[in-house]
Amino acid sequence: MTVERLRPFGETIFAEMSALAVTHGAINLGQGFPDADGPPSMLDAAQRAIATGHNQYPPGLGVPALRSAVAAHQERLYGLEYDPDTEVLVTVGATEAIAGAVVGLVEPGSEVVLIEPYYDAYAATIAMAGAVRRSVPLIADGDGFRLDHARLAEAFSPKTAAIIVNSPHNPTGTVFSEADLRAIADLCVRHDVIAIADEVYEHLVFDGRTHTSIASLPGMRERTVRISSAAKTFNCTGWKVGWLSGPPDLVKGARCAKQFMSFVGSGPFQPAVAHALNTEMEWVSQSAKSLQRKRDLLSDALADAGFGVHRSEATYFVCADPRPLGYYDAAALCRELPERIGVAAVPVSAFVDDPEPWKHLVRFAFAKDDASLIEGARRLARL
Ligand code: PMP
Ligand code: GLN
Repeated sequence: MTVERLRPFGETIFAEMSALAVTHGAINLGQGFPDADGPPSMLDAAQRAIATGHNQYPPGLGVPALRSAVAAHQERLYGLEYDPDTEVLVTVGATEAIAGAVVGLVEPGSEVVLIEPYYDAYAATIAMAGAVRRSVPLIADGDGFRLDHARLAEAFSPKTAAIIVNSPHNPTGTVFSEADLRAIADLCVRHDVIAIADEVYEHLVFDGRTHTSIASLPGMRERTVRISSAAKTFNCTGWKVGWLSGPPDLVKGARCAKQFMSFVGSGPFQPAVAHALNTEMEWVSQSAKSLQRKRDLLSDALADAGFGVHRSEATYFVCADPRPLGYYDAAALCRELPERIGVAAVPVSAFVDDPEPWKHLVRFAFAKDDASLIEGARRLARL
């Protein structure tokens, strides 16, 4: 009965692999959620909010304390100034921010450029909006991935309404270079296209790298919807507190769609996230350091097990190539792994339109407790 435009999407790969992990009692290195809780003072603030009556609909834009905290945080980190009353919108996770931006700002029939592999929600949201996606693949380059600027330029046309830019990038863990962001920005300005910047992993960057928001490049603030979320920054994926910021006309379009998706959400969690943005960024930088160590632990274990391991510069994820072990079809391998060795992972082919260059590649999540990573590594060594 599912409508035609959503029929290709079925169940998400995360739900499918997490269900297999539960059935077989496998270690879940598939779905990207952390094992540990966020900062205790944030958890206390949420409990206090519930105990002190913050349990009804919050304001449509989000609670003022959170909008102010989001604006202050972006100014502090990126020098980006947003008016919390007209240029910030709190959403039900980054997922709803993406949906609000696409449905509220992209006309049916017009095109949205995606960089492949891409987070699965983008394609589904574009389909819901009746828009058309044009995807441009990243190119495997040494142990990393590279954006082909010429191919990106070819994807832009008078039909292009928006590009979704996800850096740091899920699933590859790539941080786009300044030159990449400039190339994207130039195309956006030249073709009068908006950028929907999914920056949910903005703080989880490794090895001394820093995150640059595309909104901070010349000509981009006025055409960028910048999106982030508390989920990955503060280890609270179940709270679904996200936000977007941009110029008032873009925020207005996204809000128009958002108000009829969920209206509002996550009432008592919003003040808690405001508290965390204002006071717990040291916790976040420790969390990024710990993730870097976990990345090393899992990357080394995958290499020891015989995988070709790609460089992960950020996020929760590392991509690995099982061809040296004799496996060429990652989707088949990922469906087998939970039962066979008790480990769940996700095939990168779930994030692409053209599976050919990607069909061997497996994404592993390392935001897990050390014991799970060590046991996962022991099991992977059986391959
Ligand atoms: N974008 C990317 C790239 C993601 O990996 C995720 C998952 N955290 C989301 C968006 C969705 O974020 P949220 O859980 O806040 O809706
Ligand atoms: N963002 C998470 C990931 O990439 C999962 C989110 C989800 O399950 N939809 O693994």
